[in-house]
Amino acid sequence: MTEEEIELENAAIAKEYRKLLRISYQSLSKEDKKLIRLAFNTAVDAHKEQRRKSGEAYIFHPIAVAKIVAAEIGLDATSIAAALLHDVVEDTEFTLADIEQLFGETIARIVDGLTKISNLKQEKDVSLQAENFRKMLLTLNEDVRVIIIKIADRLHNMQTMDSMPQHKQVKIASETLFIYAPLAHRIGLYNIKTELEDLSLKYTEPDVYSDIADKIEETKEEQKAYIKAFNNTLRDCLDNEKLDYEIKGRPKSIYSIRRKMLAQNVTFDEVYDKFAVRIIYKSAYEHEKFLAWKIYSIVTDHFRPNPVRLRDWISSPKSTGYEALHITVMGPKGRWVEVQIRSERMNEIAEKGYAAHYKYKQGSEKETGLDEWLNRLQEALENQDSNAVDFVEEFKLNLYAKEIFVFTPKGDLKSLPKGATPLDFAFHIHTEVGLKTRGAKVNGKLVPLSRELKSGDQVEIITSEKIKPTANWLDYVTTARAKSKIKNSLNEERKLIGQEGKEILTRKLRQLKIALDEKTVNELVNFFGLKTSLDLFYRAGIGNIDNQKLKEYAAQRSNTLINFFKKRIRRPGNDPQINKEEVTHNYDQLVFGKEEEKLDYKPSNCCNPIPGDEVFGFVTVNDGIKIHKYNCPNAVSLQANYAYRIMKAKWIDSSQQEFMVELELTGIDKIGLLNDVTKVISNIMHVNMRKLNFDTDDGIFKGNLTVMVKNKKTLNKLVENIKKVNGIDKVNRL
Ligand code: MN
Repeated sequence: MTEEEIELENAAIAKEYRKLLRISYQSLSKEDKKLIRLAFNTAVDAHKEQRRKSGEAYIFHPIAVAKIVAAEIGLDATSIAAALLHDVVEDTEFTLADIEQLFGETIARIVDGLTKISNLKQEKDVSLQAENFRKMLLTLNEDVRVIIIKIADRLHNMQTMDSMPQHKQVKIASETLFIYAPLAHRIGLYNIKTELEDLSLKYTEPDVYSDIADKIEETKEEQKAYIKAFNNTLRDCLDNEKLDYEIKGRPKSIYSIRRKMLAQNVTFDEVYDKFAVRIIYKSAYEHEKFLAWKIYSIVTDHFRPNPVRLRDWISSPKSTGYEALHITVMGPKGRWVEVQIRSERMNEIAEKGYAAHYKYKQGSEKETGLDEWLNRLQEALENQDSNAVDFVEEFKLNLYAKEIFVFTPKGDLKSLPKGATPLDFAFHIHTEVGLKTRGAKVNGKLVPLSRELKSGDQVEIITSEKIKPTANWLDYVTTARAKSKIKNSLNEERKLIGQEGKEILTRKLRQLKIALDEKTVNELVNFFGLKTSLDLFYRAGIGNIDNQKLKEYAAQRSNTLINFFKKRIRRPGNDPQINKEEVTHNYDQLVFGKEEEKLDYKPSNCCNPIPGDEVFGFVTVNDGIKIHKYNCPNAVSLQANYAYRIMKAKWIDSSQQEFMVELELTGIDKIGLLNDVTKVISNIMHVNMRKLNFDTDDGIFKGNLTVMVKNKKTLNKLVENIKKVNGIDKVNRL
């Protein structure tokens, strides 16, 4: 570079810096400006040798990110300084200690969070990717500003991706769609979310992008004329009411038009709501709502409203903090158009999200939807037990979830994601309420716990001290929070039963003169085809490890050769056919047919299936049932030539299996008898009641009872206890 060029560049840098101070959304004090100046000087010095791929000085990037943070997102001086410094520790000689010494702990912590996120490697493996994503979200524990600055960083990178190789562009764009756009949406940064989506489309589907962008450009004049017509119709009436307002057209984003075209299988011209009309009015805080409805009234005087498309986000703001009144009306030229009515304050919140939200919150102590969300997120993240892939899947669902609003019995309004059930509601109220849920009433009527709630429902939860969550509950809930709480509770329960089981196993082995040491535990885990010692103890606890099998183990123990052989068969290996996810379950038993019967079988020699493989049974002429893998070389010909001999087969976790048992009870009828019986049933763990019929005939009680039990031991305990109920005479198994 010539001296002249260097001078020009320095002037350009200085100009960008002054602009940064000028466009800040928050007003900056003298102290603020000093801090930002120091951050700027530090960053300029640190990056002085670096250039971006495009050739320009690197410092332009942190300044641009700081500008997004300052103006578009509107964060404070601390965040602006951190944004200027965000790549310093990662890319230069500067250390975190240097930053802390110069700028103090808060900025150092934010920069540290940003550096950590950058260091997370791009992983192909979904579970590693998910683990990284979770680690990234964990920085929210530290400071939500980390994620926000990261979003700004990503936005600027997306804006300046042209000089990158194409495969990197596509990769970064996909990641943006996967993580950053949903996060921006959830934090209420709608404009940035839209820009991220549009830019992602530009790189993932360039042709589609430019096609739609061109068409939008072509229809611009038409749109302007439409807004003008709209404006002309309303102007006199709005002016008569002395309203101070502005009417604007808001074009839909390229990405959302694309989504509409795909979802409805229509062309660009057939997408009817390509833009919305926005009416933004000035108002004192206390008159906002009244004025919104006044404007609503004027609009609907002139244009017919679509009654099912009214959304009042003023009375119940979205949990992202969004407020506005939305209606769809039959506008000029007989076209449906959405009208968004917002005060200036609401508009600011919609555009700036997070920062505006806190600006207006000052003074009121009320927790907002956004605070609540951040708190819940923190809680979910601290929950180390949940599997990272599950967590991310659930988390992502919750990011884009539509909301419903339901009432507590006292009339408090609660917001839940669409699809939520009464059990979700119970966990939303409080974990303790969720864990003790026995039943639920919706609008005064008892409903199943799995019923999907609708906006406006009033939900009442009935609790009982005796209730414990079961695995079925996981099917009844949709929110990440409820799922993780139920899983935790189930694990606790498993551990308790496991402790009991360990004692039982110790006693049983003592009779066989075997001590339960680490070696024995490992051998038993292998012998039963389990994964962990807890699986073993849990099975012992619920009575699934029988004495006969233990004797077999004892006999084998002395025979090292067999032992060796056993291990070889059980060797998990790296067979690509095994579905990894499925192996994490404890498949230890094969069942056949629709009825899931347990039958004797042998593995076939041609493909040697092991637990977890997808297999089918084949009935041989002389050798009973043999099992083959679905991808066994012989499978196709067997299935083609002997279809009638093929049996469906499935691996199960025997500790999770339940058996249906029908019991017949007889006795002397008395008041409260039925109640006593059901109490006994629900007090015995691992028993679910499915059906109960009873009849009385001249004082004789006769009942049929269907229960689900895990094993015979539990069944015997149940029968014994029912017999003890005063009035019961006989209990027979049918
Ligand atoms: Mn950066």
